[in-house]
Amino acid sequence: MAQFEERKVGRWTVRIDRLICVGFGDCIDEAGSWFELDEEGIATFRPTSSGDENALLEACRSCPVDALSVYDPEGGRLVP
Ligand code: SF4
Repeated sequence: MAQFEERKVGRWTVRIDRLICVGFGDCIDEAGSWFELDEEGIATFRPTSSGDENALLEACRSCPVDALSVYDPEGGRLVP
């Protein structure tokens, strides 16, 4: 699988850096409707990811190794 996985969520672009992710699962504790661990123990988007977008933002902020980033439509970085 590619290093980066991206998903458009409203106006945001959410990116998982799969090389940085260490699989602690904090993001899943915060927003299990958006993220899950794949068979390699690395975070990935749920196929039907959806839910509270603020919870998604908090989940991205909770990543201890900054593997999750969020960008606005102009490419400005909201998280981390
Ligand atoms: S919180 Fe960060 S390190 Fe932990 S599983 Fe999620 S993306 Fe990976």
